[in-house]
Amino acid sequence: MSLRRFRPYFRYLKSVRGALVAATLAGLLYSAASGAGLPYMIDRVFPAIFANGDRASSWHLVLLIAAYIPLIFFLRGLFGYINGYFIQQAGTKILETLRVDYFAKLQVLPLSFVQRRQTGDLLSRGLADTAQLQTTLTNLANDGIKQPGTLIAALGFVGYKAYHAEGISMMLVCLAVVPLTVLPIRYFGRKLLKRAEQLQAQLGTITGHFSENLSAAREVRAFSLEARETERFREHSATLLALQLKIAKYAQAVSPAIEVIASLGIAGTLLYAYRAGIGKDDFLAVITALYMCYEPIKKMGALNNELKRGEAALSRLEVVLHEPVTITDPAAPTPVDRLRGDLGFEQVTFSYGDNPALRDVTTRIPAGTVCALVGPSGAGKTTFANLVPRFYEAGAGRVTIDGIDVRSMRLADLRRNIALVSQEPVLFNDTIFNNLLLGRAGATREEVVAAAVNAHAHEFITQFPQGYDTVVGERGGRLSGGQKQRLAIARAFLRNAPLLILDEATSALDSESEAAVQDALRKLVVGKTVLIIAHRFSTIRDASHILVFDQGRIVAQGDHASLYAGNPLYKSLYDRQQGAS
Ligand code: ADP
Repeated sequence: MSLRRFRPYFRYLKSVRGALVAATLAGLLYSAASGAGLPYMIDRVFPAIFANGDRASSWHLVLLIAAYIPLIFFLRGLFGYINGYFIQQAGTKILETLRVDYFAKLQVLPLSFVQRRQTGDLLSRGLADTAQLQTTLTNLANDGIKQPGTLIAALGFVGYKAYHAEGISMMLVCLAVVPLTVLPIRYFGRKLLKRAEQLQAQLGTITGHFSENLSAAREVRAFSLEARETERFREHSATLLALQLKIAKYAQAVSPAIEVIASLGIAGTLLYAYRAGIGKDDFLAVITALYMCYEPIKKMGALNNELKRGEAALSRLEVVLHEPVTITDPAAPTPVDRLRGDLGFEQVTFSYGDNPALRDVTTRIPAGTVCALVGPSGAGKTTFANLVPRFYEAGAGRVTIDGIDVRSMRLADLRRNIALVSQEPVLFNDTIFNNLLLGRAGATREEVVAAAVNAHAHEFITQFPQGYDTVVGERGGRLSGGQKQRLAIARAFLRNAPLLILDEATSALDSESEAAVQDALRKLVVGKTVLIIAHRFSTIRDASHILVFDQGRIVAQGDHASLYAGNPLYKSLYDRQQGAS
């Protein structure tokens, strides 16, 4: 059995100890009732009633004996039920803890971990792999104690009966093939584990494709990709099917293999019994007990397969559960309240993979500066800004605010001092009010409305029939791009952090929205240290300082006039933008 694999999770069992004890006891009673109780019935009850064809027994005795049959089945059923229910209850609770642990871990893992992986695959681990574990646990609940218990009870009965009838040699003949049954269980289990791992991975691929496809519903139609997408899905699905069939092949092979081995044991017992001249009553009881042995072995074989599938699922969850959280609070954090926003980069180098995205960057941005980051696409502007809230960790060098290394502050303290307006603001499927409140938990209704007024969002919000209580749809799907941006700006007003990171939208809004957004931004940046990731240069007019990035380095800095005159890269970027707009 591969229970060892699950040992690290036994600590979860503590909280469900009571249920487990009850389940185990019930399981043992079930085992005794079925492994020994049923053969005992055949051994004693039937001969008493049909004593050599004479109706010798008294009616009362027969009544008593007949009552034994439903009684043994009733006890078996009752204890089986208690056992299964309590184990499943414990298992489901453990699984829930595991699922929440998985989700919670995804919240704190570095951004790079989440970005490196397909969303759908992470989703599938959280849903399909936990569902597989659930099935495994259900199987374990049904058979984990009952089958081994029944086996032991039945083996005991066979041993006792065979020994009683003919002595030790009969007993040995009966039980000789039992150890052999381990061979197919192990062989198919190993085969199945490999396939189960592939199957769960393929489920991840399919979910990945699914979620990617749904998030690109517009593109699929615009580029007429319907047939191509369906074809791709069909291929993924065919691979899944092939793996499922392989698993079915191995899973279905275990029982027949055990039965064939068992039949050898029964045949051997028959031959031996014939030669030793054993009576039919004794023989019948031994054969029944032997059969009671092979049933649990078969079920344990199936359970072993199921455990292998659970093992594969667990491994996939562990990829996330065991991933180290590298961006954490320091052991002895520097206490900070509201920062001034004096930003410093000292010889900072950072790379996502092999190629550095930032190389030896040193600069200082005094508090209150509106600083535009410009440069060709891929030059490192976004990366530079992302190092400030510690979305990523500098590989070498340090990033400081007010002279304090960002790594020596508590993450919550650091991030409370930073407001972020991204180019495609993400809203949660909640009311506008609650979405704005994310800017600063605990803000009053008046403060929220004031922020919306400042962001030129109040007018359009109040035009909705439900006003601030309008639910915005998944990712804010019921709002226009300009409206979403103004809500993001309102959030930043509410947060009122000394540092502001503005990721300028790549595509222009309609001119009315654009004017409202620009005006709101102009008000928002006042008195703050602002990093504008300028994609369109439209915000550059408001910048008092400009950093020009190229291939991960800051190649020039200054104001617009001096850069335009002195830096050819800046001049060509700016001219191209002016020509385009
Ligand atoms: P910019 O904002 O100037 O367009 P970025 O900072 O986004 O540039 O990117 C800098 C470099 O880092 C580019 O070469 C880009 O391909 C790479 N890069 C950006 N984000 C990631 C990521 N999540 N994983 C791997 N490489 C990345």
